[in-house]
Amino acid sequence: MTVRLSSGTTLAQNWSADLPWGETRNAEQVWRMDEQVQDVQDVLAAERETTAERLAALERDLEGIVEAGRLVATDDEHDPEGSTIAFERSQTGAFIEDARKHLAALDSALERIAAGDYGICEKCAQPIAAERLMVRPTAKTCISCAV
Ligand SMILES: [Zn+2]
Repeated sequence: MTVRLSSGTTLAQNWSADLPWGETRNAEQVWRMDEQVQDVQDVLAAERETTAERLAALERDLEGIVEAGRLVATDDEHDPEGSTIAFERSQTGAFIEDARKHLAALDSALERIAAGDYGICEKCAQPIAAERLMVRPTAKTCISCAV
C-alpha cells in the first residue's frame, strides 16, 4: 500500500530517499526508535502541512462548485451542465473525505511519536517492520496484525 500525494509522487518514494533505515536483524528490517524518530516527525509534519493546504483548496473548490450549481439550477434544471457539476461535486467531496482521513492518520502518528510508541504494533506490541513504515508511515499495526 502506498500513500498517494497530490503531487503524484508517493510517500514511499520520498520516505526511502530521505531516511536512513535500521540495521538488519534476523533478516528483517527492524525499526529503530532513536535518531530516526526526529526524521519521521519532520516528514510527517511536512506531509501534514501539505495535506492541510490541499484540504483547504478542495473546500474552496467545493464552494465554487456549489455556487456554480446554484446558478445552473436557476437557469434551467435540465441543463446538461447540471450533471457535470453534480459529478464534480461528488468527486471533490470524496477527495475532501480522503484528505480528512489522511490528516487524522498523520495526527495520530504524530501523537504516537510524542507518546513514544511510534513504530510499535498496537495489537501485539512488537516493532513494526521498517519496510512497512516506509510504505505506510501512519501504520498502527504490524503486517501480521493488519490482516
Ligand atoms: Zn502486531
